[in-house]
Parts: sequence; C-alpha cells; structure tokens
Amino acid sequence: MDETRCPQCAWPTAELPHTAERPMSRGRVDYRHCVCGSWLALLNGDVVGATRPALTQVQSMDT
Ligand SMILES: [Zn+2]
Repeated sequence: MDETRCPQCAWPTAELPHTAERPMSRGRVDYRHCVCGSWLALLNGDVVGATRPALTQVQSMDT
C-alpha cells in the first residue's frame, strides 16, 4: 500500500497543491484536494485519511 498516493484514484499526493498545513504535537498535518474530488489528510506526508470522491452523490432524497 502506497501511502503517498490517493487511496481513491492513486494520484501522487506530491503533485497536489497544498491547501492547508497545520503543525500539531504529533507532527505536520496537511490537507489536500485530490483531482478525483476527494479530500486527503496527510500526517508527515503519509495519507492517513480520505473522503469519498465528490462524484459520489449522497442519497439525501431517498425517503
Ligand atoms: Zn484521488
């Protein structure tokens, strides 16, 4: 498993623009917006979390 790529589309995180970077007690947390629409959370350069791609619509009208 490559932790330097988007888990959704395998895009290299190094090629994504920095959107926010916050130093924390455990290290450097970085948020990036991937080309697939997913938000990636990086800790010291490693992907530690990701949202679903924006193309995946939430079924909010399913009642
Ligand atoms: Zn992606």
